Amino acid sequence: NEEELALANAGKDENGDSIFGKIARKEMKVDLVYEDDKVMAFNDINPQAPVHILVIPKMRDGLTRLSKAENRHKEILGHLMWAVAEIVRQKDLGDFRLVVNNGPEACQSVYYLHLHILAKRQMKWPPA
Ligand code: ADP
Repeated sequence: NEEELALANAGKDENGDSIFGKIARKEMKVDLVYEDDKVMAFNDINPQAPVHILVIPKMRDGLTRLSKAENRHKEILGHLMWAVAEIVRQKDLGDFRLVVNNGPEACQSVYYLHLHILAKRQMKWPPA
């Protein structure tokens, strides 16, 4: 279908590895912002705001995108949201926007669940 074609053309097979897998396994260096036993957060290489942090689970465990979430993922999903609160407190970010892009139509380009924290500028609504 159209979605599969988009993924194939982008060279980002949802069944394959992804750049965030390499980051989670420490095979690739990032500008780390937060880490615990279950999640890690790092600065986005192409920031869309003065602060742009990505928060990922250390294990993808099938969570290529949020819509794949199953019962077993409830704990890690809660942990990811808690980590966002912890990071914004630690870094004193004030107001922020939290974004999850799910699938090609939402401009997801990395098929490994990640939360975007955007802060330190005035946001617009609706988002483009
Ligand atoms: P989009 O690329 O449209 O923002 P995603 O929601 O999938 O789609 O976001 C992937 C994000 O990962 C992008 O903001 C991109 O800049 C970021 N990114 C890609 N590779 C790296 C990397 N090696 N280190 C940090 N951020 C990265």
